Amino acid sequence: PVQGVQNQTIAVLGLGRSGRATAAALREGGATVVAWDDSAETRAQAESEGLPLLDLTRDAGWRDRIDALITSPGIPHLYPHPHPAIAQALRRGVPVDNDIGLFFRSFGALDWAAFDTPPRVICVTGSNGKSTTTALINHILQAAGRPTQMGGNIGTGVLSLEPPVDGEVVVLELSSYQTDLARALTPDVAVFTNLSPDHMDRHSGFGGYFAAKRRLFAEGGPDRCVIGVDEDEGRYLANQMGQGPQDDRVIRVSVEEKLDGFGWSVSARKGYLSEWRKGRQIASIDLRGIRGLPGAHNHQNACAAYAACRSIGLAPREIEAAFHSFAGLPHRSQTVAEINGVRWVNDSKATNVDSAEKALMAFDSIRWIAGGMGKEGGIAALAPLFPRVRKAYLIGHSARDFALQLSDTPHEVVETMEAAVARASAESEPGDTVLLAPASASFDQYPNFEKRGEHFTALVEALRRG
Ligand code: ADP
Repeated sequence: PVQGVQNQTIAVLGLGRSGRATAAALREGGATVVAWDDSAETRAQAESEGLPLLDLTRDAGWRDRIDALITSPGIPHLYPHPHPAIAQALRRGVPVDNDIGLFFRSFGALDWAAFDTPPRVICVTGSNGKSTTTALINHILQAAGRPTQMGGNIGTGVLSLEPPVDGEVVVLELSSYQTDLARALTPDVAVFTNLSPDHMDRHSGFGGYFAAKRRLFAEGGPDRCVIGVDEDEGRYLANQMGQGPQDDRVIRVSVEEKLDGFGWSVSARKGYLSEWRKGRQIASIDLRGIRGLPGAHNHQNACAAYAACRSIGLAPREIEAAFHSFAGLPHRSQTVAEINGVRWVNDSKATNVDSAEKALMAFDSIRWIAGGMGKEGGIAALAPLFPRVRKAYLIGHSARDFALQLSDTPHEVVETMEAAVARASAESEPGDTVLLAPASASFDQYPNFEKRGEHFTALVEALRRG
C-alpha cells in the first residue's frame, strides 16, 4: 500500500498494467481513487474491475477536489503538448506525480524504528546498460546473501514490490521519463551509467541526462553517486557532485581512463577492472572470459555494479565471485550454449546498428546471423567490424540489402532462422562464436525481439540435444 494518502482523492491517468497497479496500491493505502484512460476499451475493462471513472480531460471532471494526479509512463507530459488531463492539473495547481514518486513517498514513511538495519534503495539510470547493471547489482547482492528486491522498468512495477524487510536493498531501473516526473526521488545510491553519443538517441539522451541531474543528483541527494564519466556530461555531473580528491561521495566509472587521481573510482581497461581510492589501488579483477559479461560495454556495466555494491559495503572478492555466476540477461549478448567448442550467443535485443556494433566488438571469429526489418542505412556503418565476421547468415526482409553491403565478406542469404542455425552449425569450427545480432527489428518474422531470441535459443537447444 502507498503510505501517506489516507483520506485523499487521487486521480490516476492511464489504466494499463502500471496504472492499475498504482490504483490498487493507492486504495490499499486508504485513498479514494478516480481514474481515466483515453481508450474506451481500457476504461470499460478497468470499470468492470471496480475502478470508478472520471473524465479528467474535461473541466467538469475536476469539480471534486483532487489532491494529486498520478500519470503513467508513455503519457505525454511535456510542454507544449501535455495530455489534457495534465494540462488541467497544472492549471489548477494539482501536483502531478508518478508511481516512482509514490514509491519514494511511501519508503520515506516506513516505520524506521522497526528496523535493525534500515532498507536501502539503489537507482540505475542512463542511456544504455540500465537493465544489465540493475540485474547485475541484484545478482551480486543475492550472491552475497543480502535480501533484495528488483523492479521499476525491469520486472515488477515499483508499487507491486513487497514492503522491505530488515537490511533489504531495493534495486530499481528507472527511465528518464520516470525520473523526470517523480516528485520524490531519494535513493541512497544513484547510478548513472552513460549518455549515448549516438545521434539518433541524442534527444532522449540529453533528456535523460538533465532529468537525472535535476532530479536524482539534486542538492542533498544520494549518499553515493556512481557516475560514468566517459562522456562530457558525466564528467560535468561528477565534478558538480563531488569536489576534490578527498570527496568520496562520487565514484567515477570509466572504461577509457585509469582515473587514479580521484577520490574514488572504478575503471576497466584491457579487460581488467581496478578500484582506486585516493591514488591507491584497492582491488583488481580480470573480467576477460567472464561468460555473462562479454565486451567493453559489459565491462562498463560491471564497473558500475561493482561501484554500487562497494558503496554499500560489499567486499571486492564477494563481487568478483558473483561476476562469474552472472548468467546475463536474456537476448543481450547471452551465451545460450557451448557445443563442440562453438559458442552460441543470443543478442536478439540488437535491433539497431549501435547495439549490433557492441555485440560484434565483444567477440571474434564470428558467424553472424543478421537481418530482419532493417533500418535506414542498413549495416554500412558496421563495415570496420566485418573483418571479425567469418561468415554472415542473412535472414528476413533486409537479407538482400545486407548481402550487398557485406560485399567481400563471406555471406549467404538463408531467409529463415532455422536455415541460419542449421548452416552455421554445419560450417562452424571450434573457437567460433555464432552470434544472433540482427541489426534489425523483428517485425517481419516475429511479434517482438524476445520471440526471435527464444526461437533461436530453442533451435540451439535442439542442436545440443542432437
Ligand atoms: P537498457 O536497459 O539501458 O536498454 P540493457 O542492459 O537492456 O540496456 O542493454 C541493451 C543493449 O544495449 C545491449 O544488448 C547492448 O547492445 C547495449 N548496451 C548494454 N550495456 C551498454 C553500455 N554500458 N554501453 C553501451 N551499450 C550498452
